[in-house]
Amino acid sequence: MVEKLKDASFYSNLSNIIMEISKVNDLDSAYKTLSKITGTLMEVDKDFFFKVEDDKVKEIFKTAYNSDIEDMIVWANDNLDVSVFPEENFSYIFVPIFSLNKTHFIYTAISKEDDYSNEIMMLFRFISFMVGNLFENLILYDRILNKNFIIEKNKNFLNSILNSTNDSIVVFSENKEINFKNEKYDQLEEGIQERLNSIIIQTLDNQHNQSEEIEINDKFYSIDSNFLEFENEKNVLIVVRDISGTKELEKLKKVDKMKMEFLSMMSHELRTPLSAIKAYSDTIIDSYEMLDDETLIEFFTTIQSETNHLNRLLNDLLDFSKLELKTLSLEKTKFNINGLINEICNTLEEFANNNDVEIIFNNDKELEVYLDRTRMRQVIFNLVQNAIKYSDKEKKDKFVKITTKMDNGNLIIVIEDNSIGIKEEDKEKVFDKFYRSDTSLTYEIQGTGVGLSIVKDMVELHDGTIELDTNLGKGSTFTITVPRGVEDE
Ligand code: ADP
Repeated sequence: MVEKLKDASFYSNLSNIIMEISKVNDLDSAYKTLSKITGTLMEVDKDFFFKVEDDKVKEIFKTAYNSDIEDMIVWANDNLDVSVFPEENFSYIFVPIFSLNKTHFIYTAISKEDDYSNEIMMLFRFISFMVGNLFENLILYDRILNKNFIIEKNKNFLNSILNSTNDSIVVFSENKEINFKNEKYDQLEEGIQERLNSIIIQTLDNQHNQSEEIEINDKFYSIDSNFLEFENEKNVLIVVRDISGTKELEKLKKVDKMKMEFLSMMSHELRTPLSAIKAYSDTIIDSYEMLDDETLIEFFTTIQSETNHLNRLLNDLLDFSKLELKTLSLEKTKFNINGLINEICNTLEEFANNNDVEIIFNNDKELEVYLDRTRMRQVIFNLVQNAIKYSDKEKKDKFVKITTKMDNGNLIIVIEDNSIGIKEEDKEKVFDKFYRSDTSLTYEIQGTGVGLSIVKDMVELHDGTIELDTNLGKGSTFTITVPRGVEDE
């Protein structure tokens, strides 16, 4: 009879087994606890933990054992029940540890005991069942831990990818709370995060993706927002990219292209008057005797006007390069601005008549200013000339109207026309160097695209501003504001 059982009742043994098993929280201690529990029930000389795979027996802890018992172990594995094999001076007890018909291992003990009561057999069966379930749970728990570890690892991997990109990535929930953001998002320039608010609302409202480009502190950013619906939850994924480098390159390429166009336009602009001068002077030299006085005067007048045109073009070029090199300085004098405008109107009268445009300026009042007369002449001349040049052939009462007034020490000149007008998107660009509006209406009209850039630079040299209000098809209004200037003592 097993001695130990005598010491404790069946139920106290049972509760002891339950207590010991309930303390186990990992596989290693499960094996040790099993040894310990068996030791409390009977004298154990030695114990082993066998696994049977494809009818082959393996000892889990690689402890030496008598291979004669292998057949018994295989039998115990198939039998799925506690079995005792008595030998001469001792006995083997095999306890299969299994759950859901899967045997985890066969616990084997060598004991001097030779007689096993029903109670101890019941306790071993109970141990077999309990430890089997314990193993099942521990293995499942291990798998879950492993799975979580893999999920965590994948998450970290994805995070490190999302953090290594130069783009700022953020996901907002429907309530505009951040569900995810990468490190770059927190480093975004001030002002951008605020800008995102309206983009999130628009994306959620329209439920489709949208893109836009913004400029903040001289830097350009592209913002792409994507509508995401995940498990019935609406999200907005936003990617912000710094595209300043690309923009800068685009700008340089554009300036380069404009310069090439400018060169070809300039050659064309210079060649036209030159060809005319050459043709007329050749005719005069070759057929001087055959030409009457009237024709001669007509020819000379054309040569003179083409020479003037050439002169203006070259002056423009000279001014342009001076402005570029910042070597242009103002020579301020006291003069009557209304007088200057009347003079310009007279000079452009013929050009206006030829284009059927009326120049309206009715101001003979003396309005004294202290500015660079030549440069102011150039500015006003250029604007009035443009108004005539870009007049609308389709319109009947074509006009350019000039007004002047003083306001708080500032001279304000307004030049208004009902010419072809300028596209909204070209409004700022027309002041850029070499920029020419690209429409079927302007195609035919000659120009170099430097006029308005010179005008703007000259006005700014006078510490003034120039503003454009325009409507395509209707007309344009240029408003110049410059400090009237004070004469040096
Ligand atoms: P250019 O006249 O030599 O082309 P400008 O710098 O003077 O160059 O003008 C730039 C562009 O602005 C023009 O090509 C034209 O398209 C547009 N523009 C300028 N003035 C007017 C105007 N009064 N009405 C309509 N378009 C204008």
